[in-house]
Amino acid sequence: MKERKEEEKKWKVSGNLCLDFINTLEWRNDEQKKIEWLPDFLALIQWSEYCKIIDNKYAQKIIKKALREPQVAERTYHKAIELRELLYNIFSSFALSGKVYPQDLENFNQLLTDSLAKVGRIVPIVGGFAWSFDLRNNSLEFFLSPIIKSAVDLLLSPEIRRVKQCANNACGWLFIDKSRNKSRRWCSMEDCGNRAKAKRHYLSKKNNSVRG
Ligand SMILES: [Zn+2]
Repeated sequence: MKERKEEEKKWKVSGNLCLDFINTLEWRNDEQKKIEWLPDFLALIQWSEYCKIIDNKYAQKIIKKALREPQVAERTYHKAIELRELLYNIFSSFALSGKVYPQDLENFNQLLTDSLAKVGRIVPIVGGFAWSFDLRNNSLEFFLSPIIKSAVDLLLSPEIRRVKQCANNACGWLFIDKSRNKSRRWCSMEDCGNRAKAKRHYLSKKNNSVRG
């Protein structure tokens, strides 16, 4: 149980839902070290519950439905992973080059029509309007819509210019740099920041001992 809590802590590092989703592939750019945090549909549901996309009651309901319809669950799982990789391509590419591949954006727009508009509705709230996701919707894909919505919000927000990819290329994690002078380089100091520091320390010692 303790181990699980430790793992869960890592599920939220970027400060944004769709980036957290993208970051569920750890060491994305290192074939040897790569760790898939969402190996199956159940893990996907647990992650969604952890990130408060769905509540426990809904998670239980959706797990039961998945057991009854394993093929649909499998398909939904693959669709989710496809979405994650598409989002990575879009945000990573923009973070690194300020551009995205037109085909990636086209695919995202297609998902937008297929998914978001089906379960999302505009509802009045005090002083304005908000998106509402219909929990009664029985589709197993329901929980993907808030992720897509989060991606839309980020793409349209000035914060898009603060999306960065961790300076440790093997890591590949994305985050929003909220520092005043846009100086953040690492996904987190505890992870890549410290590792880079330790590596520098180690290399300088090694060089010293070689010289000495
Ligand atoms: Zn990192």
